[in-house]
Amino acid sequence: MDIYIDVEKCTGCQLCVKACPYGAIEMAGDTASITGACTLCGACVSVCPVQAIIRELPAVEDIDNSDYRGVWVVAEVSDGQLAGVSLELLGKGRELADTLQAPLSAVLVGDDVAGLVVGAAESGADQVYLAEDPALAQYRTGPYTDVLSGLINQHKPEIVLLGATEQGRDLAPRVAARVKTGLTADCTGLEIDEQERLLIQTRPAFGGNIMARIITRNHRPQMATVRPRVMRRLEPVPGREAAVVKVPVAFDEKSILTRIVEIARDEGAEAVNLQDADIIVAGGRGLKKPENFGVIYELAEALGGVVGASRPTVDEGWIPPYHQVGQTGRTVQPKLYIACGISGAVQHLAGMSGADCVVAVNSDPNAAIFDIAHYGIVGDLFEIVPALTEIARQELAQD
Ligand code: FAD
Ligand code: SF4
Repeated sequence: MDIYIDVEKCTGCQLCVKACPYGAIEMAGDTASITGACTLCGACVSVCPVQAIIRELPAVEDIDNSDYRGVWVVAEVSDGQLAGVSLELLGKGRELADTLQAPLSAVLVGDDVAGLVVGAAESGADQVYLAEDPALAQYRTGPYTDVLSGLINQHKPEIVLLGATEQGRDLAPRVAARVKTGLTADCTGLEIDEQERLLIQTRPAFGGNIMARIITRNHRPQMATVRPRVMRRLEPVPGREAAVVKVPVAFDEKSILTRIVEIARDEGAEAVNLQDADIIVAGGRGLKKPENFGVIYELAEALGGVVGASRPTVDEGWIPPYHQVGQTGRTVQPKLYIACGISGAVQHLAGMSGADCVVAVNSDPNAAIFDIAHYGIVGDLFEIVPALTEIARQELAQD
């Protein structure tokens, strides 16, 4: 990839100078000039009003992947902490990097986030790229894309992983398009083909009826997003250290197209933290009507758990969407998952089969949920669930 300025077209407006987060454009007389500090991030290309900045891409047959090395995890910061999904990706990234005999790096972007380097190191990173600037305090697509694209073009990792969160789903496709590579979203499995040094990215396709194995053969890096709670994090190693590479970025706020005016939080959604719950009691269409979710809430409360739901109950408006478990809902990994009146469709299982213990209550002895349940109770949920609630309350009263 190459980037240069067509001096015949350049009007000397200097918009690109302000837009370059790496300070790599200077004025040479009346026209702009790109210096050796250029990371090929591409931020200047779209701001030029006369299309004087040209980005040339190599033909597929000229692409040389051999100088791409290492596994990167783009760490996400949530309420001043490393997001759980980033720690999970560092766990998986460690395994991939060890197989490839390559380093594992975390990319930490934000403002005043250096304190999180320790957590990334203890969770498996050998190296942390640290990009700090006041303009990066809150996630915004433009500046984050500029930072990450520049880093990728400069340091050439062979694999880049992001969480399939709101942020990751917004950022990953932008960056993939900018650095001209492929992206596999919502992977449920990642492994290495050691012979070809390829990342095999597994994800459900065709409504979850098949598991597709996807490779990015010609382009680098190989990029994937993974939902929270799909991979398992490593036990942190206290005192483990990582090399820190400071990324020299400086943004001109005036050249960023978006401003964060307000952050509105959905308190209901935050209160129902399915992804971190140890106990989930989930209701399905077997409940027959919305008010019957009451029996599910009572059992969840008695056990100190939270309420999950199958998709039809959400689609029918019986319960808000943030309760949904499954392929198009949340992926969960509780210690205990009690599925009540849920048939066990593959799209539901995609979100909860990682639970340590599954208890299923269903009146149909042939329901698919029993195939994966550790304990199955065949019968009417309206008799069984209240009985379980009663037992839970009695047990707790004795404690
Ligand atoms: P049903 O399949 O209707 O099952 C109801 C169960 O209740 C039955 O097994 C029945 O025997 C039992 N029952 C009835 N009465 C009683 C009683 N009195 N006592 C005990 N048991 C009783 N689904 C999800 O859940 N999450 C997703 O994220 C999701 N994503 C999807 C994405 C796509 C692209 C598609 C195509 C589908 C998706 N679905 C998802 C829908 C999925 O295919 C199933 O339709 C859905 O999971 C079924 O929900 P259910 O088990 O509640 O309902
Ligand atoms: Fe353009 Fe990015 Fe290079 Fe700056 S670092 S000159 S914005 S491609």
